[in-house]
Amino acid sequence: MVHCPECQTPLETADDIEFAETDATTGFIKASKRFYTANCAACGLTIGSGVAGAKSNGGAV
Ligand SMILES: [Zn+2]
Repeated sequence: MVHCPECQTPLETADDIEFAETDATTGFIKASKRFYTANCAACGLTIGSGVAGAKSNGGAV
């Protein structure tokens, strides 16, 4: 499984990851879809992101 590159917390379950909703106002996201960022629950590092309703793609780094 993945470890947080910042604090080395093992991100084994959804409880280890915080999902924060992000409005489509950050510039590079112009779609009307909502984006979520996945953040480490321990240190807050943004690990990944995804469109609402979709799971974060589990492989790529
Ligand atoms: Zn972390």
